[in-house]
Amino acid sequence: MAGSDRSTALMDRGRAIFPGGVNSPVRAFGGVGGTPVVMASGKGARITDVDGNEYVDYVLSWGPLVLGHAHPDVIAAIAGAASRGTSFGAPTELEVELGELVTARMPHVEMLRFVSSGTEAMMSVVRLARAHTGRSAIVKFDGCYHGHADSFLVRAGSGVATLGLPDSPGVPEQLAALTLVAPFNDADAVRALARGSAEPIAAIVVEPVVGNAGMILPKPGFLRALREIADEIGALLVFDEVMTGFRVAPGGAAALYDVRPDLTALGKVIGGGLPVATYGGRRDIMQRVAPAGPVYQAGTLSGNPLAMAAGLATLRALTPDVHRQIEARTTTLLDGLRQSAARLGVNFTSCQAGSMWGFFFSPGPVYDFDDAKRSDTAMYARFFHAALARGVYLAPSAFEAAFMSAAHSEDDVSLTIERLHEAMREARG
Ligand SMILES: *Cc1c(COP(=O)(O)O)cnc(C)c1O
Repeated sequence: MAGSDRSTALMDRGRAIFPGGVNSPVRAFGGVGGTPVVMASGKGARITDVDGNEYVDYVLSWGPLVLGHAHPDVIAAIAGAASRGTSFGAPTELEVELGELVTARMPHVEMLRFVSSGTEAMMSVVRLARAHTGRSAIVKFDGCYHGHADSFLVRAGSGVATLGLPDSPGVPEQLAALTLVAPFNDADAVRALARGSAEPIAAIVVEPVVGNAGMILPKPGFLRALREIADEIGALLVFDEVMTGFRVAPGGAAALYDVRPDLTALGKVIGGGLPVATYGGRRDIMQRVAPAGPVYQAGTLSGNPLAMAAGLATLRALTPDVHRQIEARTTTLLDGLRQSAARLGVNFTSCQAGSMWGFFFSPGPVYDFDDAKRSDTAMYARFFHAALARGVYLAPSAFEAAFMSAAHSEDDVSLTIERLHEAMREARG
């Protein structure tokens, strides 16, 4: 280690002006303790902090960087777009190209609207679902995170779970009461909620593969059951694929599990590291969005040319072959970690979908957020710090997914397996 003096000094300055020293909660290391590492640069699979320490990165900006850091095509696309003007507040060719690419890869997204964050996409989806159905209640799942819009800060995952916060102050009770919560992987609970709800349900909203309560796979048939229930009760089925889109498969979780949602939110990978998200789906529903229809939603920087250029370059480079390569590397890494855990006698359960992966220090199985919370989070915190000290950057929370990029080489993966074996040995004590 080259030390941590500069990181510590910068975090001190940050704390004086940013709540908790950060601009998004999980970055503060609340889930693992210690002082955050302040990043200076990234190239390929590696990032370097302000003290000169280098890490193999499995956070990848929380998912977007599927090609790794500073991919030459992405940088060239951003620079090219920037030199032609950074924003117009008018339609551009780039947004049409990216939009067409998304609808081609995800045929259930017949029409779409670009926004700047996953939060904004999901906030807009709920408004649209309520307008389309004329109903107010929504069903979400315990531990799923859909951004920080008021309606979703009810039993939310990610930073809310990491910090053990209750439902956030500032969310009106009347609004929170319209968000009904079921355990993930429990279709019967959704049926019971639908029957018992005084307020009819506008939408069933789900992360098809959970990535914000740690990573949790859907049981076979669960997503299909949600489709059937939604049809039965006249609600819309919404897949929040902000994390899983272009990650778990070229066509996202909808393609992987062959279930067609009515509306979909995308983000993260679609912007290749710049602020882009989108929501879209059935044409008849999307036609309700202004100015085609009456449901208002707008954005000064929506469809921003730099962001569209980054997204296009990323998705163009992300061919089915690249998907297969990243998925195979992910499998190799998880095989290695499972072998380490077995040799060291550590309770460990892991899962993977495409290049998205996750693990719990738990004998498993993990089907829902309650199972996830029973995992050994103190062990995770020790493991995280032991990995960091050995140059492997993992999420600073047991309740987040991890990612692989096209820039991670076979050597990076074997090196990671060795380092994480030692980290696991140290964390086990
Ligand atoms: C990250 C994420 C969001 C929020 O996206 P932001 O761009 O951070 O607002 C919403 N839903 C899911 C599933 C996510 O992983």
